[in-house]
Amino acid sequence: MTGAKWNSMNASTPLAPTVRTTCPYCGVGCGVLAQADGSGGAAVTGDPTHPANFGRLCSKGSALGETVGLRGRLLHPMLRRADGTLRCVPWPQALDRVADGFRKVIERDGPDAVAFYLSGQLLTEDYYVANKLMKGFIGSANVDTNSRLCMASTVAGQRRAFGTDTVPGIYADLDLADLIVLVGSNAAWCHPVLFQRIMCNKADRGARIVVIDPRRTVTAQEADLFLAPAPGTDTALFCGLLVHLAEHGALDQVYIDAHTTGFAETLARARAIAPDAAATARACGLAEADVEQFFNLFYTAARTVTAFSQGVNQSAQGTDKVNAIINCHLATGRIGRPGMGPLSFTGQPNAMGGREVGGLANQLAAHMGFAPDEIDRVRRFWSAPNMAQREGRKAIAMFEAIERGEIKALWVMATNPAVSLPRAGAMRDALKKLELFVVSENVLSNDTINAGAHMLLPAAAWGEKDGTVTNSERCISRQRAFLTCPGEARPDWWIVSAVAQRLGFADAFAFAAPAEVFREHAALSAFENDGTRDFDLGGIATLSDGDYDTLQPVQWPLRTDEVPQAEKRCFAEGRFYTPDRRARFVPPEPPALREATSAAFPFRLNTGRIRDQWHTMTRTGLSPRLAAHLAEPFVEVHPQDAARMGLVDGGFARVATEHGAVILKVLASDHQQPGSLFVPIHWSDETASCARVGELVAPWTDPYSGQPEAKATPAAVAPVAFTRRGFTRTREALALPCGTWWAKVATADGVEYRLATSQGPMFWHDFADRWRTPDARFAEELVGGVYRAAAFLDGHLDSCFCIAPSGAPPQWDLASLAAAAAEEEGLRIPKSQACDYIGGTEAVVCACFGVSLEAVRQAIRGGATNVTEIGRALRAGTNCGSCLPELRRIVFDERFAHPV
Ligand code: SF4
Repeated sequence: MTGAKWNSMNASTPLAPTVRTTCPYCGVGCGVLAQADGSGGAAVTGDPTHPANFGRLCSKGSALGETVGLRGRLLHPMLRRADGTLRCVPWPQALDRVADGFRKVIERDGPDAVAFYLSGQLLTEDYYVANKLMKGFIGSANVDTNSRLCMASTVAGQRRAFGTDTVPGIYADLDLADLIVLVGSNAAWCHPVLFQRIMCNKADRGARIVVIDPRRTVTAQEADLFLAPAPGTDTALFCGLLVHLAEHGALDQVYIDAHTTGFAETLARARAIAPDAAATARACGLAEADVEQFFNLFYTAARTVTAFSQGVNQSAQGTDKVNAIINCHLATGRIGRPGMGPLSFTGQPNAMGGREVGGLANQLAAHMGFAPDEIDRVRRFWSAPNMAQREGRKAIAMFEAIERGEIKALWVMATNPAVSLPRAGAMRDALKKLELFVVSENVLSNDTINAGAHMLLPAAAWGEKDGTVTNSERCISRQRAFLTCPGEARPDWWIVSAVAQRLGFADAFAFAAPAEVFREHAALSAFENDGTRDFDLGGIATLSDGDYDTLQPVQWPLRTDEVPQAEKRCFAEGRFYTPDRRARFVPPEPPALREATSAAFPFRLNTGRIRDQWHTMTRTGLSPRLAAHLAEPFVEVHPQDAARMGLVDGGFARVATEHGAVILKVLASDHQQPGSLFVPIHWSDETASCARVGELVAPWTDPYSGQPEAKATPAAVAPVAFTRRGFTRTREALALPCGTWWAKVATADGVEYRLATSQGPMFWHDFADRWRTPDARFAEELVGGVYRAAAFLDGHLDSCFCIAPSGAPPQWDLASLAAAAAEEEGLRIPKSQACDYIGGTEAVVCACFGVSLEAVRQAIRGGATNVTEIGRALRAGTNCGSCLPELRRIVFDERFAHPV
């Protein structure tokens, strides 16, 4: 394919009136209807026909149209000069440089000296081409992905139990279950559309909800029973449950005998870990009555779904936790039948597609591993000259090998490891050692690029990509382009293929369109597949280009009979993918955290997501309305701990581990357990002065999955004092003075920085004077210790700045300054623009309609008694519904917990 096609239009040129595509965020995989608006944005609504969401979107999906602009986009290949600056280079030169660099390292140091680090954001076609190049042609299995940080323990647990990485259940089970157990999942924020589905079941059918999570999240507040076990003890809880089920006659002995092995040994291990409810309660730090209630709920509800997510996976014992859950479902035969089964909520939009391709270092391709016959089969299918013969390095091991200088060339695609990896600071330093460091990206700047990437390759972004993704219920959907690639951006599959061709593999990488890649991927899954692999897309391996373009969501396993789409569950009749076709009960190890807390680090650091941001905010961070929910990086701490440590709610704290430190706003909340801290993962050096929580996380990994523990690093917390707070709003990003605490927030026409400082007004007067555009008119005042400044360009407010003593209520209102300036200078500030600054720090609860916390509180004080009445009064919660759990919490708090 030539570059001309990709260059011919700009991003705002609509290709079609409305395009059916999928959301690029979480693993729910919602269908989206998107239409370019012709001015750089897009209109986005939920696709009512998509089986994942039936028209619903959460706050993130609803705001997608605000994120497709070109601000900050990488539009051309760029090469880093010796002086550290970047310059544009033509594609042929960039591709030659990448291919030559890899060739040189491979010839000198062997194929294991190079690596690819991929992403659950890539499309299946991108994944397939990268995996094929590394494992079949370069000859190494050093291909891993940020999915290692996300779902690897589920992959390992399912492979141990089922002999295949297959999620048994489907979303429809959430409609049919009588009991839904959510383990380590803040689904209300992280998988909102599925959570809405669960809440509909609760409202319509009376399904009971149990939430198991160390934090009292917004998900937990909707539960009939909430259990907050001590960190790392989920295995004991599910061992106790297995014993309880056995003791109370709840086992499905027919299923156990016919379809499984290892039950007796597993039950004996469970008895040793948690022999009864009392012992379980002690092991987990729970009330015995709560444990008994959970056990009895599970015992009595035949239709039970146990849904789990990052709280289970991101653990140094994550695989055992997954198997402890699966053991309970196998023992009761509650698997693969309507309303029953373990159901992993996948984090990323295409983590599942990456797993199908085999884009993990311990998989080969298409659900095949590194057994000699599998290597040979894939070799013959690919006509591959240089097959990898063994597993490669998983993510943490891969970056540690970079740190030791053993891996010398790395290609990072669509992910930001300098932020997201454990020990992120050390990993960023390690990247500087690379001889060749290539990054395929959408953005011109992020922490990984700024670690010194030698070559930047502009990749297509959401809205421009064309291919397939697979969601948490094995449903393959098309992601379609509704914008053309801007500048010289190219699809990732095209970029990798072009490098492969330059490495001498032109025939094997002569792909001209994503449909060709998909057909080959599907054909490989069916190649010599005599039923020993359930991942078999043979039925759609010969789609025409037209059929591929119009492909409807399709769930695997594909079946030739007329099984309705919503009934594609697995394993109700056994037929697992182990050699004897029986599932394996797996006895877990006793729960134990890797490292104890200490006097120096007395807290447990838990990390996670917030409702309206995604990963490192490179996309969601562009949306003003998503920024309005929780705009600043924070540490959530129990009020008792806050008081004990001298922390002030709304003040600042330094959170440290032996690996690094960050400075965050303090959020005192009894939703947090005493002794633990919660910090969101989203902020990076691009969006805050000192808030990269990955820097703090220990690199302990699960022995089976290689997934790192992100929920229990020993940590310390201490207050940090700033004498002044403030903000500045500008059109373009600013370099703020060293020592300033800042968080960057998107606005409709530029950026806002929230500031904290111990520098006085004189310092900021000098700064504002330097920072303003030279030909701008400047107005400033210092009243009562509050310094305000505004710059006017062409008679309009261009930028402004305000700094006030920390103890004083924030005075963000520039109206008086604006009025004075207008009077004196004849300058104009539109009323709406001036008013923007009033209450600029007020949290917004409903992102869709911009309804603030204070407005909700006022509505409750004015008589609203529930979310329906709030919706009627303010519209809050009446669009995507993501804020409904928070609204319910606010209603409760205002009416009962903290009435005024
Ligand atoms: S739940 Fe939200 S983030 Fe997840 S796929 Fe759906 S719209 Fe996107």
